[in-house]
Amino acid sequence: MSVRPYRDIERRQSRKIRVGNVEVGGDAPISVQSMTNTLTTDVNATVAQIHRLEEAGADIVRVSCPDQESTAALKDIIKQVHVPIVADIHFHYKRAIEAAEAGAACLRINPGNIGSTDRVREVVKAAKDHGCSMRIGVNAGSLEKELLERYGEPCPEAMVESALNHAKILEDQDFREFKISVKASDVFLAVAAYYGLAEACDYPLHLGITEAGGLRGGTVKSSIGMGNLLWAGIGDTLRVSLSADPVEEIHVGFDILKSLGLRTRGVQIISCPSCARQGFNVVDTVAELEKRLAHISTPISLSIIGCIVNGPGEARETDIGLTGGGGGNHKMYISGRPDHNISTEKMVDHIVELVEERAAKIEAEEAAKQTAAE
Ligand code: SF4
Repeated sequence: MSVRPYRDIERRQSRKIRVGNVEVGGDAPISVQSMTNTLTTDVNATVAQIHRLEEAGADIVRVSCPDQESTAALKDIIKQVHVPIVADIHFHYKRAIEAAEAGAACLRINPGNIGSTDRVREVVKAAKDHGCSMRIGVNAGSLEKELLERYGEPCPEAMVESALNHAKILEDQDFREFKISVKASDVFLAVAAYYGLAEACDYPLHLGITEAGGLRGGTVKSSIGMGNLLWAGIGDTLRVSLSADPVEEIHVGFDILKSLGLRTRGVQIISCPSCARQGFNVVDTVAELEKRLAHISTPISLSIIGCIVNGPGEARETDIGLTGGGGGNHKMYISGRPDHNISTEKMVDHIVELVEERAAKIEAEEAAKQTAAE
């Protein structure tokens, strides 16, 4: 029994697959993905965007391959990046083969849309030859005509059936290295479909609320949909779809996982909304700290609280804490205990320094542990 059972999330037991060097499913950490929105044929722009996504912590990045020029560009792109690349393919089985040959770690393709069994066989062979996994991506907006006619409209049952039909095609080719998504822009539909699919198979699930909207609305919608599923233990990898800079998708994805204690990366700031009691400007301080601490990838918790009403309590639970005091004199907490005072003028620089020092120490300890293990 854990100390705080109300926080426990029991993950669905899924089989584990690999997307390049990233494990997806089983006990692997829930990975966070995004997708480039540059022209794939513009190699420099695409590589630059992937580098920004890598810096933000992306585990996997998807790149669209609508034509042969794109799969040709993919080869150059893959050589210049570190994260595994998923090639997004629709309909054209030749693009899938080219993408596998170009070094894609995974193909996002629905085998039921490729055409004949021979074509499926060729794609599966290319995937096996090049160590590629696949993602079956069912979308409520593009369900098969036959299913729509039978069910009358896109519904969870139709989406699950579509996913299992595609899965069967790959299973018939003795291929099981794939994950599945059943996305919909309607949060109720997507969530119900994922619940159904989670029951029906043990394949790893890629979560997404598709076309969720802009930065604010899409973040809220994705958090409700994916939050519900992740809280129930469903989901092995995720992509937040936003009409915004793809880097934001990575930030939001990690924030969702952080909120549920499923994965931590970088500094998690706990801060109050502020009010007339605040000893310093909480809103500006948090904005400044978020900017200046964005480069930290080591998990560290930091509480920034305006006054003693909630400051000491929050600081007890965080690695580093700041509680606003009177007369521009504030209290710093280290590892939950009151440690020293700091002035308003010096506090931001001081906190950045403390966090950087702590991150460096943790990284050095981990490196030493790894060396000892080797
Ligand atoms: S912690 Fe203090 S400053 Fe922050 S909102 Fe609460 S009462 Fe206001």
